[in-house]
Amino acid sequence: MERVLVAGGAGFIGSHLCGELISRGYKVVCVDNLITGDLRNISHLKKHENFEFIKADITHPSEVLSESNVDYVFHLASPASPVDYQEHPFETAMSNSSGTLNLLELALESEARFLFASTSEVYGDPLVHPQKEEYWGNVNPVGPRSCYDESKRFGEMISMLYHRKYGVDVRIARIFNTYGPRMRRNDGRVIPNFITQALANQPITVYGDGTQTRSFCYVSDMVEGLIRLMFADNAAGKIVNLGNPDERRVVDVARLVREIVGSRSEIVYFPLPKDDPKVRKPDISKAKTLLSWGPKVCFEEGLTNTINFFKQNE
Ligand code: UDP
Repeated sequence: MERVLVAGGAGFIGSHLCGELISRGYKVVCVDNLITGDLRNISHLKKHENFEFIKADITHPSEVLSESNVDYVFHLASPASPVDYQEHPFETAMSNSSGTLNLLELALESEARFLFASTSEVYGDPLVHPQKEEYWGNVNPVGPRSCYDESKRFGEMISMLYHRKYGVDVRIARIFNTYGPRMRRNDGRVIPNFITQALANQPITVYGDGTQTRSFCYVSDMVEGLIRLMFADNAAGKIVNLGNPDERRVVDVARLVREIVGSRSEIVYFPLPKDDPKVRKPDISKAKTLLSWGPKVCFEEGLTNTINFFKQNE
């Protein structure tokens, strides 16, 4: 049976990925230091004979490298919401830099395939729209988001070095905004904030004038994309955008959440955080061609599922 290590497996996307891998017959070793991950996300998997959880920090090589004999390594271990990574800037910077290096060493030793979860943030506040993988981005190297953006860019670079120099079979996913059940209520991201506020009939906090855009991918679509990218035989050394190109203005997201919830919340406006990207939308033609992948869950359906999750876990 093939063994898959999922670093960050107790997080939002990671836990869904672990569950899907188990259901497809893989043995899963979930590694997480629980800085932003949560054991509740994997409580349903803990009794499964093919699931193992190790509380470890990937920035400590001794804790990671002892776990040899794996066939695949997914690296999703990093705080990922702007509020989280600005609260843990050093942990974020190090998990994507030295953590990536340690996991690449593990992949090299184990002759395992390696997938690095990068981000649309490598495009920064993009001057090209929609974003294609060839675009190099517009990133502030010293701004409040740089602990994330620049460490993800470093992670991409070091992954490609291991691919070119040592022949490690590396794949890089640039993950665009993803949402769904198991997002943390207080992670500060737009979807959990708006849902929590709407359910409580509290004001919905739009930052800026709300005309900035994001494109939201439901978590099951994201997990399918990650799995296809890892297991495709034609994707070694490839960098692929994964996301849903259905672009929305933030203020329209606020109105839609309010409507689906049936909430009486008013919409209130706060200043836009520094370096907040004005637009974001993936060009996913590469994922379509290479992986025959595209999102299936529409925003209204995904939002309804997510709202139900938040209602059930109040
Ligand atoms: N945002 C907002 N209200 C909130 C939280 C976020 O208007 O309560 C905006 C934020 O300024 C950004 C967008 O929603 O323009 C998405 O923010 P998020 O933190 O979810 O992730 P990002 O895409 O910026 O990494």
